Amino acid sequence: MRMNRIARRSTAVIILAVIMVSGLSFFLVEYFMYADQWVISKGSPHVYDGSNIGCGIVTDRDGILLLDDRNERVFSEDQKIRMSTIHWVGDRYGYIQAPAVAHYAKEMAGFDPIGGLYSYSGVGQATLSLSARLQVAAMEALGDRKGSIAIMDYRTGQILCAVSSPTYDPDDPPEITEENQDIWEGVYLNRFTQSVYVPGSIFKIVTAAAALERIDGILDQTFHCTGEYDLSTGSVTCEHAHGTLDFYGAMANSCNCAFASVVEQMGAQALKEQVDRYSVTEPVSFDGITTAAGRFDITDASLDQVAWSGIGQHKDQINLCSYLTFVSAIANGGAAQQPYVVSQVTCGGEVTYQAQTQTMDRVMPEEVALELQKMMRSNVEVKYGVDNFPEGMTVCAKTGTAQADGKASNALLTGFVLEEEYPLSFIIVVEEGGYGQNTCVPIISQLLEVCKEVI
Ligand SMILES: [Zn+2]
Repeated sequence: MRMNRIARRSTAVIILAVIMVSGLSFFLVEYFMYADQWVISKGSPHVYDGSNIGCGIVTDRDGILLLDDRNERVFSEDQKIRMSTIHWVGDRYGYIQAPAVAHYAKEMAGFDPIGGLYSYSGVGQATLSLSARLQVAAMEALGDRKGSIAIMDYRTGQILCAVSSPTYDPDDPPEITEENQDIWEGVYLNRFTQSVYVPGSIFKIVTAAAALERIDGILDQTFHCTGEYDLSTGSVTCEHAHGTLDFYGAMANSCNCAFASVVEQMGAQALKEQVDRYSVTEPVSFDGITTAAGRFDITDASLDQVAWSGIGQHKDQINLCSYLTFVSAIANGGAAQQPYVVSQVTCGGEVTYQAQTQTMDRVMPEEVALELQKMMRSNVEVKYGVDNFPEGMTVCAKTGTAQADGKASNALLTGFVLEEEYPLSFIIVVEEGGYGQNTCVPIISQLLEVCKEVI
């Protein structure tokens, strides 16, 4: 009887012990597997401040302070730097999210499972590839117009400049009311990564690439523009008759009729396949950011609608970051480098993250890229004016003017510089900015001059 009771008690103790040990093991396993995620979870007050990172210093490529978040959130002393970089470092209240910096919270906070947040006294530092000087210059170039300007190093993928307008001073946030909300429309968005735009004629680069791959002898063709090109279902028009053009002339004059003929010859299916192959509408992912997806939708489209799609209208939409990646691939001889904005993260002086240049899976044949370089150079020589760009820079470009519903047209420009010492690609959208050439060429020219001193 007594022995039985002792045995029963022993069994109970053993069972309890087993439960305890397995519970502890379960916790330890979970801890080592997930502790880093718990620590940097959005609820952790040690690492986050609002919903943006709050555990270190963020500087530009030259070491200029953009954000010191060791105790409270302190931005640059320079108001223009604060205003031009807020879409990358985030505001105080989490209205403007800064996922790129937050993505490296673990590396900045120096978390490890044994020591915990050992460096959380504030020695984490993230160095961005952005130049504060270029950010300010680009913001000033946009002025009070809405839009976005970005410049990238197409050999490495480093984003040197990407501003989004409207913007505001995080030290003096605006009061947004029903009356003034138009002025502040989309102010919390980073238009470079999160918005989409109708591309207009800058999309002719895609169609030209497709034509070079799909239509034999395209460079020997002649087009006759009367100002209107009839397709069986409707027509495509130009602002005026361009007369007789070859393929280079069609590109330089941005002749819709010639491009409608190109699309007609190629066929909807081939164009769609090439758009997919170049990943023109695919989002780009880097530094914890996934950009907005573009659109090229010709489902059930009539032939004239397909032709309009090939010249950047109909339902076309592009994300600027993704499109800049595509244009950069042309500049880089066909290989697209993954963009990035966080160059390096250190914690307590130790490098915890170092960006690497990565070639993406969106490749264009080299001969097509080289031909497009020549065509885009010819645009500058024939149309935009070599003298309108900085000396010593061989700029290749394409402008666009895109109709948006009920508003004045958006002005667009994209392109790159050929010189090895200036491996720069760029994209500009000025909302309601009118003609791409008139509005955007002076802006990029001015910014490329600044680039000479920055890189
Ligand atoms: Zn024309």
